[in-house]
Amino acid sequence: MNYYSLNHKAPNTSFKDAVIKGLAPDRGLYFPETITPLPQSFFENIDNLSYSEIAFEAIKQFVSPDIPETILKTIVEETLSFEFPIVKLNDNISTLELFHGPTMAFKDVGARFMARCLGYFNKNNANEVTVLVATSGDTGGAVANGFLGVKGVNVVILYPSGKVSNIQEMQLTTLGQNIKALEVDGVFDDCQDMVKRAFLDEELTSKMQLTSANSINVARWLPQLFYFMFAYKQLHKTHNELVFSVPSGNFGNVCAGMMAQQLGLPIKHFIASNNENNVVTHYLKTEDYNPKPSVQTISNAMDVGNPSNFIRIREIYRNNFNALKNNLSSYSFGDAETKVALKEIYDNYNYVADPHGAVGYLGCKAYLEHNPNAHCVFLETAHPTKFLDVVEAVIKVKQDLPEQIQSVMGNKKVATRISSYEELKDFLLK
Ligand SMILES: *Cc1c(COP(=O)(O)O)cnc(C)c1O
Repeated sequence: MNYYSLNHKAPNTSFKDAVIKGLAPDRGLYFPETITPLPQSFFENIDNLSYSEIAFEAIKQFVSPDIPETILKTIVEETLSFEFPIVKLNDNISTLELFHGPTMAFKDVGARFMARCLGYFNKNNANEVTVLVATSGDTGGAVANGFLGVKGVNVVILYPSGKVSNIQEMQLTTLGQNIKALEVDGVFDDCQDMVKRAFLDEELTSKMQLTSANSINVARWLPQLFYFMFAYKQLHKTHNELVFSVPSGNFGNVCAGMMAQQLGLPIKHFIASNNENNVVTHYLKTEDYNPKPSVQTISNAMDVGNPSNFIRIREIYRNNFNALKNNLSSYSFGDAETKVALKEIYDNYNYVADPHGAVGYLGCKAYLEHNPNAHCVFLETAHPTKFLDVVEAVIKVKQDLPEQIQSVMGNKKVATRISSYEELKDFLLK
């Protein structure tokens, strides 16, 4: 598969090159040249396929021929070594739990897949790659964990000081080895802007191979389409109008869901559930796309004012606003509503959601008001104990910490504080 730049001013390139570069030389995001739907028999036969087999079939066209099939099988199996269960709340609402990986957020899958691809591409040469990544909370931990000890890859993570949860900070600042954390005086968008600027800085890029492990990187973004297939496998026998409510920040996850739909997966509709960072909710109402500085919320991994993957979503619909609107709804909810939802989910269904999942739940409820026959799956994108303060304060029940969380608590934080691009550059050059 070759990829083109969505800015259309850079040459098309292979999967391997797209992964290593992250962003095209013209600053555009890469997008696959073609999307070939899977045969009908694949979906008819899905009950007989394991998660790894489903994932392998779904991703194959996007990585071939750069990764041989036997290697790809191993990469997929290693990536998916945990569960993806559906929990039904009622006849109309389920949640797909995507937090059973090592850092307990859905980003583990993309990070683990990408780390293994880069490890494979790098196996014979000594050219070091530096992965530069901005995080609003969960990407940092997932990337740190996924890339820990991968030979020839250095990882530099930028996170906004004081704006990630305690556990998120521990996950990205305590591993050491090839992982370095930079604590930025600013918000997530400042981190993301610094990373983008570094990619454009010829002095830097002439001295080092920089790539991104944000969802702008195709190897981080595309594996997320697996989730929607895993949900379908678990629900298709009992529900035929499947709708997904995706708690959205940079819109990589929901865009990956749309890729699964392009591959033929029968999905009726998508809901992008947002916190108060609601550029897309506003856009779908007014057709006016107006990025804004991000505001801080209790669902901090979605505090994004200028979602980087939205351009890919537009591309899927060939910039046809009405086609997009027919397939995507978006709602925005404030922190107060999110807390009420957390409490309601606990009281009514005895289920402990996290603040991001709670926003997804609210999206389901809003949609179901006008579409009572649908079955809405909200993605539980992180484990509730990653947001312990908020969750315990709202439901007033002490939570046990899972092993993955316990293992990072009390470790020593190592981070370098920076407040400007120049400081980032100095750090990278030394
Ligand atoms: C990253 C993240 C999101 C947002 O996902 P996008 O793909 O950026 O839209 C939602 N919830 C959690 C817990 C996350 O970590």
